[in-house]
Amino acid sequence: MTTTRNPHAGEPFLDDDEAIAAALEDVSVPALLCSLVHMTGDPSWIRGDVQPRVAVALEFQSRIPEEELADVRRRALPAVAAYRDAGCQPHTLSREVLHEMMEFLGRRPVEGVLEGMFFDDMQFDGADSGAIVWGDEVTEEARAASPVVVIGCGLSGILAGIRLSQAGLPFTIVEKNGGPGGTWWENRYPGARVDVGSHQYCYTFEPADHWSEYYCQSPELRDYFAGILEKYGLEPRCRFGTTITSVTWDDAAARWQVGVQDGDGATETLEARFVISAVGSLNLPRMPDIPGMESFAGPSFHSTRWPEDLDIAGKRLAQIGAGATGFQIAPTIADTVGQLTIFERTAQWIIPNPMYHAKVPPGDRWAQRHLPFYARWFRFLMTFPGIAVGTEPYRQDPDYDDATHTSVNASNAQRRDILSAWMHSVLAERPDLIEKCTPDYPAMGKRVLQDNGSWLRCLMKPNVELVRTRIERIVPDGVVTVDGTHYPADIICYATGFRHNEFLAPMEVTGRDGASLRAQWGMEPTALLGITIPNFPNLFCMYGPGTNLAHGAGLFFHSEYQIHYAMDAIHRVLSSGAQTIEVTPEAHDEYVERYRREIGQLVWSHPSITHSHYKNPEGKVFTLSPWPIEVYWAWTRAIDPDAYVIA
Ligand code: NAP
Repeated sequence: MTTTRNPHAGEPFLDDDEAIAAALEDVSVPALLCSLVHMTGDPSWIRGDVQPRVAVALEFQSRIPEEELADVRRRALPAVAAYRDAGCQPHTLSREVLHEMMEFLGRRPVEGVLEGMFFDDMQFDGADSGAIVWGDEVTEEARAASPVVVIGCGLSGILAGIRLSQAGLPFTIVEKNGGPGGTWWENRYPGARVDVGSHQYCYTFEPADHWSEYYCQSPELRDYFAGILEKYGLEPRCRFGTTITSVTWDDAAARWQVGVQDGDGATETLEARFVISAVGSLNLPRMPDIPGMESFAGPSFHSTRWPEDLDIAGKRLAQIGAGATGFQIAPTIADTVGQLTIFERTAQWIIPNPMYHAKVPPGDRWAQRHLPFYARWFRFLMTFPGIAVGTEPYRQDPDYDDATHTSVNASNAQRRDILSAWMHSVLAERPDLIEKCTPDYPAMGKRVLQDNGSWLRCLMKPNVELVRTRIERIVPDGVVTVDGTHYPADIICYATGFRHNEFLAPMEVTGRDGASLRAQWGMEPTALLGITIPNFPNLFCMYGPGTNLAHGAGLFFHSEYQIHYAMDAIHRVLSSGAQTIEVTPEAHDEYVERYRREIGQLVWSHPSITHSHYKNPEGKVFTLSPWPIEVYWAWTRAIDPDAYVIA
């Protein structure tokens, strides 16, 4: 009998000692110490004098002093060589030892649901903990009679396809773009890269040993998704270049009628027992409404529509908007364009991140690929610190008084001071820029941006100007601000973000008794756990209302939990011979009440923040999750049958 090697145990290797010694120079020593326990079966590696001093996501060496790092590398070499010589078979470790290793790296207790979530995430047994394993309780006939339409082939849609395949359900993934990857298919502007660490911005059940950068760029992510699609055989199930025009519930048939239109304009109606919306929520470009935009003589476009063949060399480029997108474009193009004028409406808080453009060095890549569970522990090291602090640092303290409105509690004030100090240090010679770049709202209150210095250094370049004055109009040859200044431009890029509050737009979704989703939501899109909506049976949202993350972890975590929950709901329907599942208004409303109370207390709702894509036009937040990720994980393990009508 052949056994499959645990995908996280690393690929066996035969590298010589010299090569191993060289590789060890590049590794994260705290993660290596954990891997050494797997290699040797000896927990003394984590019980010795060398202990991580801190757990901070961006500190891969956990502030262990240099001489101790060198000592571990020296002692590790014979152990790694012995592991190689013995055939690269890791030891099986007890849950107690693995738990001890989590606390060793995390520098704090890992208890309760947090522990459960991380064991689920780390998958030490090599099994995909979210894989669907249904038995005879769901008959072949029931499966065959339950087609599913998945809307969107980005990270959530691909994941839904993997789970539906495992469940043996017929399904179609409908995608308006020409290929997979969603936001990473669309965003091809110069400098597009992820700003959540790559090793956590990927599926838990796939080895994360291949990333070339710690925050990889858009093409690599596109390749990643294309590779996953191929590996799981999903391509034949995808209809690319196809737009969904309507999604309508047929109560008599207990089915959804999904209207689609292909690139040639041909229309068709797909029937589905279940619909999974995996449309993403940051992909409807938000163009500003500035007088004269149509009069501009040169190329002008939203950042997601950056023309492939655009020649910017020596040109005067006006960039309107400086959020996560603008922050990536400007430093990438500054040296190519003749003049770059950046119009920034609101100053941004910036987290210094020295690893932001860093390549994964060869030794670390080797370790991620070969040393047992090293990549898992590296992922833990990157993820745990942000998750473990929960949402308390983001809470508005009602007893805390900050007349400047730039902090919401004492720790938030500390954070503000650290971020300010860093900005002052980089811009020391440019007090004018310090003034322009200093935000007037609490730290972390909008999506905090990452910088390894490249953004701030870009602003200091002689051919770059940061304009904080409001734009009055666009004219054929440039941009005019309200003080009457004319900024000449040959090209305008609108890096003005997305219609983040308009979930599922522009599709018309019509539910039970003709209920219009758009009308039901109005300006307040809500769903139980962001997934299910009253009057819309057998419909599940991934990345739905209230599930964007501005704290801890990343969207892959949420997507995996949401599909787990949706598949449990589908299982309950099919295993009971029922037709439909629908959340009760009471359960939905009770959740929304709790949601509103909680989100209203967190920093993103702070009234000093006047412009934020997190807020709806009334200034309320329905986009973000206010829950610690492990709480959301626990809530999505299974549906609560009392919250649903299964009929
Ligand atoms: P964004 O964060 O909403 O930023 C839009 C920018 O345009 C802001 O500077 C905004 O100013 C400005 N703006 C919008 N409308 C304007 C108007 N009418 N006049 C003047 N300025 C205007 O959008 P984004 O940068 O595209 O990022 C959106 C989200 O996409 C991010 O939060 C993130 O979740 C995701 N994203 C991620 C990455 C990544 O992972 N690397 C990269 C890009 C985007 P105000 O600040 O005043 O509103």
